[in-house]
Amino acid sequence: MNETPTPRTVRCPTCGGPARYAPDNRWRPFCSERCRQIDLGGWASERFRVPDPTPPDADAAGNPPALH
Ligand SMILES: [Zn+2]
Repeated sequence: MNETPTPRTVRCPTCGGPARYAPDNRWRPFCSERCRQIDLGGWASERFRVPDPTPPDADAAGNPPALH
């Protein structure tokens, strides 16, 4: 049997799909740029969370949304 270096496949931390853990995969251990961006975005939003002075469930006047 030839021992050809088979590219190792790891699980993408973002989507859980197979990701090539090889030098030609610049997004490793993620499967794609998209998954890498999502992960980094998640960390960034977690780290740099800014308190929003206006709650999203109230309108400009500060009234809660009307129930339908
Ligand atoms: Zn992925």
